[in-house]
Amino acid sequence: MTAQIIDGKALASQLRAALAHDVAKLVSKGIRPGLAVVLVGDDPASQVYVRSKAKQTVEVGMESFEYRLAADTTEADLLAVVDKLNTNQSVDGILVQLPLPAQIDADKVIRAIDPAKDVDGFHPINVGLTTIGAGGIVPCTPLGSLMLLRAVRSDMSGLNAVVVGRSNIVGKPVAQLLLKEGCTVTIAHSKSRDLPAIARAADILVAAVGRPEMIRGTWIKPGAIVIDVGINRVTDETGKSRLVGDVAFAEAIEVAQAITPVPGGVGPMTIACLLKNTVEAARVRRGGF
Ligand code: NDP
Repeated sequence: MTAQIIDGKALASQLRAALAHDVAKLVSKGIRPGLAVVLVGDDPASQVYVRSKAKQTVEVGMESFEYRLAADTTEADLLAVVDKLNTNQSVDGILVQLPLPAQIDADKVIRAIDPAKDVDGFHPINVGLTTIGAGGIVPCTPLGSLMLLRAVRSDMSGLNAVVVGRSNIVGKPVAQLLLKEGCTVTIAHSKSRDLPAIARAADILVAAVGRPEMIRGTWIKPGAIVIDVGINRVTDETGKSRLVGDVAFAEAIEVAQAITPVPGGVGPMTIACLLKNTVEAARVRRGGF
């Protein structure tokens, strides 16, 4: 069996087209949703993400606000910027790009963001609302992962789902969303015993580990759906660098029913979901249609 490749790039493009339509409707009512992205320091990967987010924000017709702060910015100065954005009526979504420099407590900054503008979905209020299934803003990567799953399997009820990774930004929220879909969910992590056996029980396997190609083809149940969240840069023997996921793609594709590629899977959906969360936040906050 050769797996269906779940095309995150194409799905993200469809989502952006639908969002552009929604934004145009809001604009016709005098509401132009705005996303503010704050970058502290000069981490090259973060700079690429921020540029990409700003470009796509403008492409769907929204307003993009960018704040680039020096690497030695104090926590107090960053909190002051967040405070200003909280009260700025043109800003519907606030994203503080992680990771932050060591002198800044990221949790404190996340908690300072108005939950109604927390389009990353990391504020404890949104985490709590998502956990009890009472709405709340869902983090972008987990939401994107769910949308990719839905593209191949609309009814996940009763399936065994295994999420490898228990971070607050990916593993835990993905598990919550799958639980809500009616899956029987196992969360595996670095202390789990016999990970290959746990993974082999999965009808849906989500890898969010950050270890290049750790999940082998032999760990995958024939016919499983595999969502590979991992993004790892590796260098081959010739010195060429490339991106790989947490799943050994060439092996997995021979066993799975469907799989997301890296790049071109979860990554593009993450940014598209950030835009979706911003449009939703604008609707809720400003009472658009
Ligand atoms: P974290 O480092 O925060 O979490 C990694 C998780 O993997 C931890 O729960 C850890 O377990 C677990 N883990 C580590 N090693 C093993 C192992 N050998 N066996 C089993 N579990 C293990 O990473 P993130 O959740 O932030 O990110 C995960 C991956 O997803 C990364 O590659 C990241 O780049 C990527 N990512 C991709 C995004 C996208 O847009 N596509 C967005 C965000 C992240 P423990 O808790 O026990 O330490």
